[in-house]
Amino acid sequence: MGCSRESSPGPGGARRIDGKAIAEAIHAEVEAEARRLREAGAEPHLVAVQAGADAASVVYVEKQRERFSKLGIRYTHVHLGAAPSLEEVEARLDGLNGDPAVTGIMVMLPLPPGIPVHRIEEQIAPAKDVEGVSPANLGLLVHGRHFVGPCTALAAMKAIEATGVPLSGLSAVVIGRSGIVGKPVGLLLLQAHATVTTCHTRTRDLAAVARTADLLVAAAGKPGLVTRDMVKPGAIVIDVGIHKVEGRTVGDVDFEDVAPVAGWITPVPGGVGPITVAMLARNTVACAQRSRGA
Ligand code: NAP
Repeated sequence: MGCSRESSPGPGGARRIDGKAIAEAIHAEVEAEARRLREAGAEPHLVAVQAGADAASVVYVEKQRERFSKLGIRYTHVHLGAAPSLEEVEARLDGLNGDPAVTGIMVMLPLPPGIPVHRIEEQIAPAKDVEGVSPANLGLLVHGRHFVGPCTALAAMKAIEATGVPLSGLSAVVIGRSGIVGKPVGLLLLQAHATVTTCHTRTRDLAAVARTADLLVAAAGKPGLVTRDMVKPGAIVIDVGIHKVEGRTVGDVDFEDVAPVAGWITPVPGGVGPITVAMLARNTVACAQRSRGA
């Protein structure tokens, strides 16, 4: 599911991993589970907390509200004003943590100056942490006992699973070591029995390391970083990056250059991005299930 032969990538070209199709399938499962929870009297209810006046967050909230309402998930937007104090944000999160009618909480980024992201991540009750970023949930991920996880990392795994290639014993290289993408992807791949190498800005000869990969995950935040000379022929290439360059949306992988040599590849847009959106909804029902002990 979710893979198709590229129409014009060149001889022996990559299969395109269709993130939109994968996301639609996840949304269908989420919708069914949300219905089941509502019928059992345990309505999933996500509260999106916004602190600050970021205009993009307002647009994002409206898109989320529309999507969640289609999925049958109650969605509330709490706006704490343009410049709330850390104490105000923490007090509101405490209230939401203790409210039995709220099953999920997310905090929109960016936060205003003076509100450190890590303080907020630590404040959200792990059972309501729909973005899977609290230290407790990341700890469960380390142990392979997680019920939620960082949405982008879970999305990258869904894209990889869609290839149907067994991961056990595969050589996987992840470019990027952030707490929400690179590191959790590495942990999830280890749990799937891949042999994992994580690269970062101090890695010597990135191209040589990347070329050893049967599976290459690019999460560096650098447009066009991965070129054909860095890819083993036939490798699975997962592009997590997302950038606007000269009006186009592009990833960390130079798609046109790499698609002819890769075995499978995620496009940007239409790859990991839509699956990430779907994983937020999936985490939201997972939190609702947990709160009712289902
Ligand atoms: P981040 O926090 O900036 O981390 C980037 C990582 O890549 C760092 O570990 C950095 O190494 C490494 N890196 C940067 N340049 C490199 C280079 N030239 N060679 C090797 N390693 C390099 O970024 P992030 O939050 O993980 O996000 C990564 C990308 O994913 C971004 O493009 C972001 O926009 C995108 N993203 C997409 C989605 C989605 O839904 N598709 C969601 C979230 C993020 P150091 O640790 O040494 O600095």
